[in-house]
Amino acid sequence: MELHLLSNGHFTLDKSLLVYAKYQGEAYEAALKPLLIITDEKRVLIDTGIGELPEKYMKFHIVKRTPEETLKTQLQRYNLEPEDIDVIINTHLHFDHCGNNKDFANALFYVQADELRYAHNPDRFQKSGYLQESFDVEVKYIPIQGSHRVTENINILPTPGHSIGHQSVVIRKGGKNIVYCGDAAPIRENIERRNIPGVLYRSDLALRSIDRLRKIENAEYIFAHEREDNLPKCL
Ligand SMILES: [Zn+2]
Repeated sequence: MELHLLSNGHFTLDKSLLVYAKYQGEAYEAALKPLLIITDEKRVLIDTGIGELPEKYMKFHIVKRTPEETLKTQLQRYNLEPEDIDVIINTHLHFDHCGNNKDFANALFYVQADELRYAHNPDRFQKSGYLQESFDVEVKYIPIQGSHRVTENINILPTPGHSIGHQSVVIRKGGKNIVYCGDAAPIRENIERRNIPGVLYRSDLALRSIDRLRKIENAEYIFAHEREDNLPKCL
């Protein structure tokens, strides 16, 4: 099994969105890091980055991306085109995690049923997280409920709280559990200090999900928006 952390560039946001009740007014350049997994059975991609933001969002977030950091170019490094991807796992449907969904015509998209439903009609306090043109595209969504086994070594773990149907992914490789946290823990301190994210559907669930991730044995964590210098050594 091969694991490759891709880059879809960076985007700016207020750091308080990543950690509850901290860092207000502090700009943070957040990494965008889909994970490509190539197994004998399947080619799997976790999250699809931010894609092209509409103008109304560019007022709030600056996307910084080199020509090498489009998702297509990133896949070509491994001799893959978007059509070659069999499975996409969207941790959730916030715009910075499903921005390139439309390009993966042949993939099955595993998303929690609650997340799919809610994305179409979010509460007011979650509305800016969902961008209809990012997720509501002509692809094949497979709504799942709770845990789900994608392959023998790739398992989806529900981690709600940041969003209603957030999910993380645990990949077993060489005695380690590589944990793709998604926005259940967007940066390292969410796990290490049990600090919940600043964007919340339900805070109590968010903490429970962090504790769930912390209990995983032999874990190496990938944080959705942490800067590159904190990546797991084993990749
Ligand atoms: Zn999110």
